[in-house]
Amino acid sequence: MITVEGLSKRYPLGERPAVDKVDIHVRQGEFVAVMGPSGSGKSTLLNLIGGLDVPDHGKISVDGLSLHNLSEKRRTLIRRRKIGYIFQNYQLLSELNVKENIAFPMAMDRCPREEIQMRVQQLIHALDLKGKENSFPAELSGGQQQRVAIARALAMQPRVILADEPTGNLDRRRSYEVLEILSRLHREERLTIIMVTHDLSVAGCAERVLLFKDGRIESDIRQTEVNLQR
Ligand code: ADP
Ligand code: ADP
Repeated sequence: MITVEGLSKRYPLGERPAVDKVDIHVRQGEFVAVMGPSGSGKSTLLNLIGGLDVPDHGKISVDGLSLHNLSEKRRTLIRRRKIGYIFQNYQLLSELNVKENIAFPMAMDRCPREEIQMRVQQLIHALDLKGKENSFPAELSGGQQQRVAIARALAMQPRVILADEPTGNLDRRRSYEVLEILSRLHREERLTIIMVTHDLSVAGCAERVLLFKDGRIESDIRQTEVNLQR
């Protein structure tokens, strides 16, 4: 589903590459956690896979489509259709209400109005946001905001979810709720998920953990079935 080969990225003024000749293969339906110390390159890796940033070297393909050699416009289009992104700070649009935030990617993609309304209703229901349709992000708790962000990420029915510290600003209970939602998407919809986290208990939800250090993969561990039963 996601293949990364020889991927490298050095920022201007960076002493060494933030991501350094990384190879990864993620199968369809896999739930992968990326762990590692702060500054080890986790977010950079995710941004490269998600097409938010461009590598200096290497290849990236998502669902059979190469991302590394596309124009910015094509990359944006593919990202919108194939990849749902979730951020630590939610990144909701503060001027838009819950319904409008969820609808945003579909509106950008010029989906028909009725299709948008139906999908938004579905997601409001699935993510337990009933009654909050017309609220603005500032009126919601962190957990609710992250559920809106997940709904938005799912709007275009992507096959891949990229999550950068999705529980980083949430307390234990709210973190657990978000992880439950991601686990369910993984189990029931067979979504491929890559989640960056520095929290070992959060990474415990994934089937596979990539440990990053200095821009490289230090270890790649598949967790046992026993851990998955939680
Ligand atoms: P992590 O997500 O593991 O904390 P990052 O991918 O954010 O790591 O950062 C990897 C390295 O790249 C760090 O040394 C960081 O300081 C540097 N870096 C990250 N983003 C930028 C940027 N926009 N400009 C310059 N350097 C950056
Ligand atoms: P309480 O509901 O008593 O405040 P918590 O919200 O801390 O307790 O946790 C409820 C349940 O969720 C516990 O069984 C705990 O082990 C589990 N849990 C909480 N946070 C996480 C997490 N980040 N990852 C995995 N499991 C968690």
